[in-house]
Amino acid sequence: MSESIKAEVVIVGAGPAGLCAATGPVVASRSVVLIDDNPRPGGQIWRAEKGRTEDLAGRMIHKLSEHENFRRMPGTHVFGIDGNSLLCESPGGDVRVEFEKLIIATGARELLLPFPGWTLPNVFGAGGLQALVKGGLDVSGKRIVIAGTGPLLLAVAYYLRSKGANVVLIAEQAPRSRILRFGLGLWRSPLKLVEAVWYSAKLLTTRSVYDSYVVRAEGDERLRSVTVRIGAKTETIECDMLGVGFHLVPNTELAELLGCEIRNGAVVVDEFQRTTVENVWCAGEPTGISGLESSLLEGTIAGSSAMGAPDSGRFLRRNRRIRRIADRMNRCYELREELRRLADNATIVCRCEDATFGEMSKFDGFRAAKLQTRCGMGACRGRICGSASRFLFGWEADSARPPIFPVRVSSLAGED
Ligand SMILES: Cc1cc2nc3c(=O)[nH]c(=O)nc-3n(C[C@H](O)[C@H](O)[C@H](O)COP(=O)(O)OP(=O)(O)OC[C@H]3O[C@@H](n4cnc5c(N)ncnc54)[C@H](O)[C@@H]3O)c2cc1C
Repeated sequence: MSESIKAEVVIVGAGPAGLCAATGPVVASRSVVLIDDNPRPGGQIWRAEKGRTEDLAGRMIHKLSEHENFRRMPGTHVFGIDGNSLLCESPGGDVRVEFEKLIIATGARELLLPFPGWTLPNVFGAGGLQALVKGGLDVSGKRIVIAGTGPLLLAVAYYLRSKGANVVLIAEQAPRSRILRFGLGLWRSPLKLVEAVWYSAKLLTTRSVYDSYVVRAEGDERLRSVTVRIGAKTETIECDMLGVGFHLVPNTELAELLGCEIRNGAVVVDEFQRTTVENVWCAGEPTGISGLESSLLEGTIAGSSAMGAPDSGRFLRRNRRIRRIADRMNRCYELREELRRLADNATIVCRCEDATFGEMSKFDGFRAAKLQTRCGMGACRGRICGSASRFLFGWEADSARPPIFPVRVSSLAGED
């Protein structure tokens, strides 16, 4: 190991949850290290646009950095653990970070499901496309279809339009009646209701369809059109790009390595965000998908709890309420059966190793399929095909194993 660091509180993830988790301990003069694999702070929702320096996450980091007891490690992957130490790969080399208390705030990723043509160039995850545009991809004048499920589709469509894209269709797989019912139930959460109405009003002139999903993407060296099932009909739409995402999957790999209990794909925590492993807390999307506000609250609660000053009941009550809304939202956007049948035998499921649906469906579990087809053994470490297989075949993904991210051989050798 080229460098060794020690801190009382170590936080993995500099999204909203991680930034809030850091604040309490830093202000209380505890030594804090904040690790994130992105060069800039903010995680997914606060991801800064290229060239923009004055953003909220940047300002929070600036404030934290005024304290000598705070250290930030941007561009650093946590790829493994060794007792109470995180094994990391940073731009300067491999680093071992020893913690007394650890807060996991590793966020979520998109659920991507295979359908014929989903590996064509210019087919993206919906949130992934938004991230690329924030990073500088020019979409002005491009005809874009946004499809899949969940409120993220609206946020992405609105953002792309604000960057000059021509969003020709938003295809939501959930039925409209179910979404309306969920929306009406938001009257007790005025902020969420206002947000939902605001997006709907802003996207009023964009064609939106419900009960609808992409069945095929067509093209040659790049995407030319998508075929969408809209209710009982099928329609082919010419477009330049497709952004498609089926809601989010918690990033639980690090918690799994530490031995934390995982239930229904999320890290189990108590109301103070304590995991089942002593001195390990978890906040935000890894504990279940419930959006920005919950990440902010849980980060704050975890930070206070980790320094032995559990939060006042106000935050806990608010978080319980948001979690209940999130449970209803997750049920509202439950995936329809037809999505399990979109892939044909030639459709690639594991795009790192080119394992197809036909090859994988011969097996009765992810491990057996992995041994024979190499699915899940590529660069993404099964993050994409593992989650897809869970939905397609009902398989439990293999348990996480180090390295949870691809790393240089020298980083692994450093560990020896
Ligand atoms: C692609 C995408 C786009 C999204 N866009 C929106 C949006 O526009 N609007 C909206 O309301 N919600 C959006 N969301 C939902 C979003 O996840 C939450 O609203 C919010 O960002 C959650 O905050 P968080 O702190 O829990 O996690 P995140 O913001 O995801 O932060 C987690 C951070 O941890 C880092 N990390 C993870 N594992 C490691 C590791 N092993 N080592 C080092 N760093 C690690 C990640 O890179 C990330 O920076 C998006 C989600 C995704 C996946």
